[in-house]
Amino acid sequence: MHIVVLAGGVGGARFLAGLRAVTPPESITAVVNTGDDVTMHGLRICPDLDTVMYTLGGAIDPERGWGRVGESWTVKEELAGYGAEPTWFGLGDRDLATHLVRTRMLDAGYPLSQVTAALADRWQPGVELLPMSDQRVETHVVVTDPDSGRRQAIHFQEWWVRHRAALEASAFVQVGVETARPAPGVVEAFATADAVVLAPSNPVVSIGTILGVPGLREALLATPGRVVGIAPVVSGAVVRGMADRCLPVVGVEVSAEGIGRHYGARSDGGLLDSWLVHTGDRADVPGVDVRAVPLLMSDPDATAAMARAALDAAGV
Ligand code: GDP
Ligand code: CA
Repeated sequence: MHIVVLAGGVGGARFLAGLRAVTPPESITAVVNTGDDVTMHGLRICPDLDTVMYTLGGAIDPERGWGRVGESWTVKEELAGYGAEPTWFGLGDRDLATHLVRTRMLDAGYPLSQVTAALADRWQPGVELLPMSDQRVETHVVVTDPDSGRRQAIHFQEWWVRHRAALEASAFVQVGVETARPAPGVVEAFATADAVVLAPSNPVVSIGTILGVPGLREALLATPGRVVGIAPVVSGAVVRGMADRCLPVVGVEVSAEGIGRHYGARSDGGLLDSWLVHTGDRADVPGVDVRAVPLLMSDPDATAAMARAALDAAGV
């Protein structure tokens, strides 16, 4: 059996942990968003890949949901001591080693997919971890400066982390996407998948970014397996994070129905064969098998049950 999962950071990582509990890890391929990637202090940082890798490797900070457990922040404080910008990004000491190794390998000419495999060698996530693309694609956000009134595009991390998504956004732009290709193994994974799952990740800047890589959406739609999506919104609110700041920018209502309709039915030019919403939530998505099941990943058992429900919906 082969299950392919499209994943962002925290929502994707937790879902993958649940899926790994109900199906052999070697049957799982995760295609992970790299649109959040950024270079800071000369280091290449891949937030979503690291969140998935640390979560599945048992090294994630469970409270924050990102970064390493038992982290210290000496280097960050020292950088601030020099006034070295940016000071708003959480760069932990332990985490830094990951970025140092990654940057060194990228500089030596290895593609991100191979670097990711090398880093995963230490953490043994069990599942196959693929970046969506080896090419650099970065999400930028078009915002209006509240003081000058000028429109400008800033990196997604600056909007999300520095401004806590509070600056009014008018668009998301995938810088570099025109020349990007799916990473090696991604198209092949869809071609042999018995099921494809859209994790309960941010529909705009995680799932949407992955689907924006030229050729990837077409490869997904050609999969012989069923495509199952999981709503990242429960009772009309995001479970954590600020996805509710992203959805209106692309004209999507913050609800399981709104996101389900945004993804659309595979039988009608969209993506989904099946759509999971939280118990008690209603969603009318024409052409899609909508199922209501508990969707709160509050503990490992609940998360595993949710993953099982996704496999049931996929008929595997
Ligand atoms: P990020 O890259 O770290 O922002 O993470 P993702 O894109 O993978 O996921 C963010 C989304 O996960 C948010 O929209 C949350 O609402 C959603 N999410 C987090 N925890 C849960 C949960 O327990 N259940 C569901 N259904 N969604 C969740
Ligand atoms: Ca992310």
